[in-house]
Amino acid sequence: MSRPSNIPFNHPYFSGRELEFIQQAIANCQISGDGAFTKKCHALLEKELGTPKALLTTSCTHALEMAALLLDIKPGDEVIAPSFTFVSTVNAFVLRGARPVFIDIRRDTLNLDEKLLDCLITSRTKAILVVHYAGVACEMDTILEVAGRHGVPVVEDNAHGLFGKYRGKHLGTFGCLATLSFHESKNFTCGEGGALLINDPQYIERAEIVREKGTNRSRFFRGQVDKYTWLDIGSSYLPSDILAAFLYAQLETREIIQSKRKRIWKYYEENLRDWAAARRVQIPTVPSQCEQPYHMFYLVLPSLQARQALIAYLNTREISSVFHYLPLHFSRMGRKFGGKKGDCPVTEEVSNRLVRLPFYNDLTEAEQMRVVAALKDFRWEAS
Ligand SMILES: *Cc1c(COP(=O)(O)O)cnc(C)c1O
Repeated sequence: MSRPSNIPFNHPYFSGRELEFIQQAIANCQISGDGAFTKKCHALLEKELGTPKALLTTSCTHALEMAALLLDIKPGDEVIAPSFTFVSTVNAFVLRGARPVFIDIRRDTLNLDEKLLDCLITSRTKAILVVHYAGVACEMDTILEVAGRHGVPVVEDNAHGLFGKYRGKHLGTFGCLATLSFHESKNFTCGEGGALLINDPQYIERAEIVREKGTNRSRFFRGQVDKYTWLDIGSSYLPSDILAAFLYAQLETREIIQSKRKRIWKYYEENLRDWAAARRVQIPTVPSQCEQPYHMFYLVLPSLQARQALIAYLNTREISSVFHYLPLHFSRMGRKFGGKKGDCPVTEEVSNRLVRLPFYNDLTEAEQMRVVAALKDFRWEAS
């Protein structure tokens, strides 16, 4: 795969056997959903994570939509979610009529601030949506304690955190439901894809129905019923086995991929720690109870002006760096739900100051040296 001379922010990676597995899927003569490779991906995820059921989906967005359907989210219900996240975390529930209640983030991990949770829960709260930013776990002990006390289910949007852990337990196994993304920008990919992890077995049977257009076709294919029929609402959330074949090639080599990413993350950390400390630049915090999956490396600059100047400067050195989530609470949609500037002060500040450095499996040490050298050449006075 050819690579331009500039250093992109992300670059797709091929672990080697993608085409071979796609060829096998074609030879199997079953390229629709739930073929042999989908089953291999399900088994791998279930075994590695220790979850009772994994179901591949066409995206993380669709897995989140399934979660909203399974929790019977209805107009008037409220869901608590960070404002500092991708739109799908929240939009999937808004599609069912929910009103999002936005929670601010912690300054250290940029995860939702669990101390604010208790006072946002009302009798209408039907779900707490947690996002493990950069794959570093939210404070799950506190979140599960508060959620349990109020009887509110927790859904983990674990798009960043596959194979990350909290107190030794895999992310994606804490909520009753959790979602994964296999979008090109994530650690493991099939271009566009995702998965729903079902940790509470009471949702398994209905999840299969929701994923198969509201029918019991999954049971029919297993020979458990002699015809299939319309039982519930649902949609078409299963990916082609061609995509599952691609994904399996990546998941199969997870240790290689994760060791590459670990090396990249550590290089940035070791070479930027002192530089950052001397300039009031924040680098990622990984609390001791968290094992991160090395999804991203970000900097939080002292100001919006410094962040913008840095992105522009890196561009002149042919290095792409990018900011991240714009706060949802005062986006055009967020304002329709009553959100306004000032509601989530840490989110507002951090989202203006954060920049993500190039990070992809094949990023070489020579390229990282160029990124680090450019950062060290960047003159603050110029901003
Ligand atoms: C990437 C991402 C998604 C969406 O994933 P898709 O697979 O593209 O739908 C959702 N939530 C978070 C936190 C993400 O980073």
